[in-house]
Amino acid sequence: MSEQDMIRVMLPDGSVREYPSGSSSLAIATSISEGLARNVLAAKVNGVVQDATRPIDTDATVQLLTWNDTEGKSTFWHSSAHLLAEALESLYPGVKFGIGPPIENGFYYDVDLNGQHFSQDDFKKVEDKMLELARQKSEYARKPVPKAEAIAYFEEKGDPYKIDLLKDLEDGTITFYSQGNFTDLCRGPHIPNTGFIKAAKVMNVAGAYWRGDEKNKMLTRIYAITFPKQKELDEYLYLLEEAKKRDHRKLGKELELFAFSEKVGQGLPLWLPKGTLLRERLENFLRKAQIRAGYSPVVTPHIGSKQLYVTSGHWEKYGKDSFQPIHTPDENEEFLLKPMNCPHHCEIYKTKPRSYRDLPLRLAEFGTVYRYEQSGELHGLTRVRGFTQDDAHIFCRPDQVKEEFIKVIDLVLYVFRSLGFEDFSAQISLRDPENKQKYIGGDEAWEKAESAIVEAAAERGLRTVTELGEAAFYGPKLDFMVKDALGRKWQLGTIQVDYQLPERFQLEYTGSDNQKYRPVMIHRAPFGSLERFIAILIENSAGNFPLWLSPDQVAILPISEKYEEYANEVFFSLQETDIRGFVDHRDEKIGRKIRDAEVTKVPFMLIVGEKEQAEGKVSVRRKGQGDLGAMSIPEFVQLFQEEVKLLV
Ligand SMILES: [Zn+2]
Ligand SMILES: [Zn+2]
Repeated sequence: MSEQDMIRVMLPDGSVREYPSGSSSLAIATSISEGLARNVLAAKVNGVVQDATRPIDTDATVQLLTWNDTEGKSTFWHSSAHLLAEALESLYPGVKFGIGPPIENGFYYDVDLNGQHFSQDDFKKVEDKMLELARQKSEYARKPVPKAEAIAYFEEKGDPYKIDLLKDLEDGTITFYSQGNFTDLCRGPHIPNTGFIKAAKVMNVAGAYWRGDEKNKMLTRIYAITFPKQKELDEYLYLLEEAKKRDHRKLGKELELFAFSEKVGQGLPLWLPKGTLLRERLENFLRKAQIRAGYSPVVTPHIGSKQLYVTSGHWEKYGKDSFQPIHTPDENEEFLLKPMNCPHHCEIYKTKPRSYRDLPLRLAEFGTVYRYEQSGELHGLTRVRGFTQDDAHIFCRPDQVKEEFIKVIDLVLYVFRSLGFEDFSAQISLRDPENKQKYIGGDEAWEKAESAIVEAAAERGLRTVTELGEAAFYGPKLDFMVKDALGRKWQLGTIQVDYQLPERFQLEYTGSDNQKYRPVMIHRAPFGSLERFIAILIENSAGNFPLWLSPDQVAILPISEKYEEYANEVFFSLQETDIRGFVDHRDEKIGRKIRDAEVTKVPFMLIVGEKEQAEGKVSVRRKGQGDLGAMSIPEFVQLFQEEVKLLV
């Protein structure tokens, strides 16, 4: 073979191999290992995801995509939508097809069932058909088609939605994909054949207007999910069930932590006594850590004059979509519910002249803010209209940015570890280097801040991804993502550099040369907001909070009425040591009292009866550990405090 017929392929590890021109990614995979080839779903060739079976005829970078790659997964699910369509076509004659995209978990297909009924009872039938077809290992065959021919095909078939889609496509760019007896209009890419699909589950059915327009016909949207192994489907369904059980809205109600009232208003949580205890413990925990880290607590009001937000720029940017101004009897006066604490803190900075020696100044506030969210967007404690940020603003000199960043990272890591979030990563958001005019602040300042963040994250060994162009227009930032017990990702704390507000508020400090300079401002919130954080904490722990956070830490259970007085004595002596709980005074059998305390997830049960009273002891049961035997109150307090010490 002559040299011209060879192509050079660069793999992600940087190695370069030569292959005959026209080799497919699949052939490349096979040349590496048969095992790899069996798992290749698609390939990224020169940055574009395509069928692994497509021939490659130029030098290229090739990344083989498997189930472990997001793009591999979405190709798998998108291909499964074709399989679902094939199954539907064989079960529901005359069915017409809209679109069938992959989604975060699985895929859907919008179909017109031609008046035929489809409900939950039909799911199994469709799943079985999909698997039957999958076992035929039909190839997804790609075929470029002239537009006129494509239209003729769907006219003949009688599929008006595909003809509607074809209208927007340009001749010469249209492709069909066929597997088995089914042909679809599609750009691709797809997995090599249907045999990769080993497990299928129809999840849901809903109505959806064609092209999302209510003037159009309502189609049936069928949601489904598929996997390359049955075991993975089983695992997915288990996690889904588990997530339902852990839903913070459900547990929040059962554990009496918070509630919502239509009368108070949507998206405005009411914190019940037990939820308030939990919240206060979190606040105190962070307050202490912040004092140690050199923060000064401040308090500012829940409203501010409109002018404050005109100065900060919030009014111009968000005013229209926010809660509207509050008026007073004085016609010229307007106030806004505060959407963020930063402008108030800038005014605190300005209460006196600052010198370079005063910096950094770290102002911290558990500041409640109000943001208008559309009612359809509201969700439990994770999307609300009023919430409390664990906010702080650090005003520092440009040369202090890196050190301050490291300190904030340390604080955030301390918070996460203390609360049982061990698996976290961080995203560094930098400027788009191609589009610098979008951002305010000079080049030099940006470069300094960006390298400060990158270096700080590296020094603390954070697992990071860097996104160009994701910075706010006022500065670069670092966001923390945690994985919870079910492997779900949540965005939590954030650290942001800001050049804009110091400018807008004309903040200054006097340098060692007696000149005036602008400080840099850093916004940071380790929890993000208490509401959101508590929601995640509930779902991560399934309501089994660390001992120090549990609203009720002990339940004192007298065996009968006779020992109530002794139970009360135990209760009061524990209160003096700051251990919280209650006496179960109900006229119930002890077995019932124990079960109820289990259900409400109280960590310690102290059972008292005749023997305990006579010996001045309590019988201790620890949730998850069972019976720990009888001990005196001081012995119990010591045990309790040791466990708390381990956790915080
Ligand atoms: Zn497709
Ligand atoms: Zn701020």
